[in-house]
Amino acid sequence: MIKDLLGRELRDLRISITDRCNFRCAYCMPDGESYEFFSRQEILSFEEITRFVRAIIPLGIRKVRLTGGEPLLRKHIENLIQVLSGLEGIQDLSLTTNGFLLKEKAKVLKEAGLKRITVSLPSLKDEKLSYLVGKKVKVSQILEGIEKALEVGLRPVKVNVCVAKGLNDDEVVDIAKFFKPMGVVVRFIEFMDVGNLNSWSIDRVFSVREMLSLLEKHFELEPVERAYRGEVAERYRYKDDGVEVGFISSITQPFCGDCNRLRLTADGKLLTCLFASDGHDVKNLLRSDASDEEIRSLVKNVWSLRKDRYSEQRLELLKKGIALKKIEMFKVGG
Ligand code: SAM
Ligand code: SF4
Ligand code: SF4
Repeated sequence: MIKDLLGRELRDLRISITDRCNFRCAYCMPDGESYEFFSRQEILSFEEITRFVRAIIPLGIRKVRLTGGEPLLRKHIENLIQVLSGLEGIQDLSLTTNGFLLKEKAKVLKEAGLKRITVSLPSLKDEKLSYLVGKKVKVSQILEGIEKALEVGLRPVKVNVCVAKGLNDDEVVDIAKFFKPMGVVVRFIEFMDVGNLNSWSIDRVFSVREMLSLLEKHFELEPVERAYRGEVAERYRYKDDGVEVGFISSITQPFCGDCNRLRLTADGKLLTCLFASDGHDVKNLLRSDASDEEIRSLVKNVWSLRKDRYSEQRLELLKKGIALKKIEMFKVGG
């Protein structure tokens, strides 16, 4: 077990397996910008990713999430899942997807050993969804993916909803109403200032408090205790059926004090914060004849010097007019 300069233990690993995406979400990767993507040679192979994960399990990693970009764009992702799900020490392996390819992939993902999945869906209206994700998409296509995930036995299925004022805050109640009877856990996320391109401003943040007070007009909710230290979602359950709903309030109630996540980018950089400007290269080590001990040593050094607490500093930085140059969300792995 290793601790950073603020006493936080390393527990979770988020792996971005590609920076490419078939969507252009307004809050992440706005349409109309020109993007450069990593070349095939630059991105880590499944063997390199697996070697890295295996090497750092002794440091305390217990949870792994695959993300991106859109992780289901990576060919034969099931091969990676199969190996990672078999690693001793990893208690939880999950994946976040935009759901576009989920209907066709759910079964192979489950067969490969994936237990649970998170699908992002910011609207239940075709036109709005297409506008928000920068591509003509029918809500039914994503819903069919969610239904398929439930049918093949992925549990729980969670739905992430990034909520921005004036964009989709009018759908908070409808989205909750829609997924509650399906037993799908919705997690409403405050619009965050990730990257530099999404035109974020504090006035566009629809706070978790505002979301909760809307929901409380329609449902009776009770808080659920955090399952573990470092859990980012504030959890509630509907009193009538016990289905859960979660809120992620990175802007209005930062949770840096418990942040135990390391991130690995598709091109092999270690990041210690979602809002990082820079990373530490591990690809060179993975591509040399370095030992697992050398890989662990690099991670130990990076983690033990960490003191990130961007979300707690954000308002102060804003006040001072300081804008950091951050790595884009689709490269970091959300
Ligand atoms: N492409 C996959 C997806 O959309 O689920 C995985 C990567 S995406 C970057 C991971 C999560 O970040 C998604 O749930 C998405 O809604 C969320 N996200 C992206 N930009 C965000 C923002 N500016 N604020 C809050 N959440 C955001
Ligand atoms: Fe949207 Fe996810 Fe793609 Fe970002 S990475 S544009 S959130 S689908
Ligand atoms: Fe962790 Fe950085 Fe988010 Fe704070 S801002 S919770 S340190 S990722």
